[in-house]
Amino acid sequence: MPPFATAPQVLRTSAEMTAWSRAAHARGERIAFVPTMGALHAGHVALLEEGRRRGDQLVLSIFVNPTQFGPNEDLARYPRDLPGDLARAASAGTDIAFVPEPADVYPPGFQTTIEVRDLARGLDGLFRPGHFAGVATVVAKLFNIVQPDVSIFGQKDFQQLAIVRRLVVDLAMGIEIVGLPTVREPDGLAMSSRNAYLSPAERTRALSLSRALFAARDRAAAGERDAHAVVEGARAALEVDRVDYLELCDAATLTPLVQIDRPAVLLVAAFIGRTRLIDNVLIGA
Ligand code: AMP
Repeated sequence: MPPFATAPQVLRTSAEMTAWSRAAHARGERIAFVPTMGALHAGHVALLEEGRRRGDQLVLSIFVNPTQFGPNEDLARYPRDLPGDLARAASAGTDIAFVPEPADVYPPGFQTTIEVRDLARGLDGLFRPGHFAGVATVVAKLFNIVQPDVSIFGQKDFQQLAIVRRLVVDLAMGIEIVGLPTVREPDGLAMSSRNAYLSPAERTRALSLSRALFAARDRAAAGERDAHAVVEGARAALEVDRVDYLELCDAATLTPLVQIDRPAVLLVAAFIGRTRLIDNVLIGA
């Protein structure tokens, strides 16, 4: 952290957050927004740095959204580190950290859900029922509270980014959505708050995800057009306990491809022990 980075101002209620945003807009300022679930790492910092460049004001939200976790998922043990997050946010020049309580985001009587249909059907949508309805609803709500001009997301959550882009267009929200490449550890592992769950031995096996994806990308770049061959080559390289999905999809529609004849993305979700990791790589046509 740079020595004189000032800590962001922490706002804990949506009323305070919206009042602050209205005042910023009244001053003619542009608000950049990075929504997260906290446990910030260098991937999140890259989003904040991009937000810093794109806005007069930079807002980070930290909210572990209960509605996007399934009943057997890791909501209770999801890593939380507010002091560490605020230090990292400060180093990236964050002005505001919005840290609401679930009861503020979901007040008594809450009953509205936003569903993005086709994009949310496959991949994580199949293995995490209700997950993307939870994501789409909370993102829309956070957008209404924060009222950003631009919001920055990671391609690490490729399907989520596609869904957010769709949502913003479909509901005419008028917010610019920026997607940034996945930030990786030096050895290739995609940075994730969930990497903290991995034992050293699991961490070694987790590396097989990015290794398999990169090898598949290289194979496609060398001329292989058969999606099945590329996918099965990647599957053979995975050292995981269970694969939820490994699919080569159209990068725009996320529907599975037979031939690699357009911009594509190879996406994986797999368990290493109890830890579920996702990763993806873009594959040029
Ligand atoms: P989360 O980790 O769920 O709190 O995600 C908050 C935002 O950070 C989302 O837009 C993610 O796509 C993004 N993000 C998470 N991990 C990475 C990474 N390794 N590189 C870039 N962005 C990331």
